[in-house]
Amino acid sequence: MAYTYDPQNIFARILRGEIPNNTVLETEHTLAFHDIGPQAPIHVLVIPKGAYVNFDHFATGASAEEIADFTRAAAEVCRIVGATPGEGGGGYRTISNAGEAGVQEVPHYHLHILGGRVLGRMLQ
Ligand code: 5GP
Repeated sequence: MAYTYDPQNIFARILRGEIPNNTVLETEHTLAFHDIGPQAPIHVLVIPKGAYVNFDHFATGASAEEIADFTRAAAEVCRIVGATPGEGGGGYRTISNAGEAGVQEVPHYHLHILGGRVLGRMLQ
């Protein structure tokens, strides 16, 4: 699949420093920041610095180094915000919306990390 990336999307503008963000963690290939409209006491967005539209684009287009950096950064974010179970945290949920049916609002791949309360059951 050939993806067209919109360089004017809000997360691209955050990555260029045109819009401020409340950073939780920054690594070589990844940025994590608090969501502007939190849906739970903990709501952090983790994004790759590379120009990827969604999970499929990232998984097929990013290097192994970028993917490893992103995955480890996301796990580190969970520890930083105190959500990691077994390390004093109460747990968390990761979500990535893609496309129309997934109701993806921002066309730059991102992982939501939600926690800080017991989240409603989504899958039965
Ligand atoms: P999506 O529906 O694309 O998975 O989620 C996009 C998320 O980005 C939403 O939860 C929304 O609140 C968040 N968001 C949109 N604009 C901004 C912004 O300018 N700054 C931050 N920190 N979050 C944003």
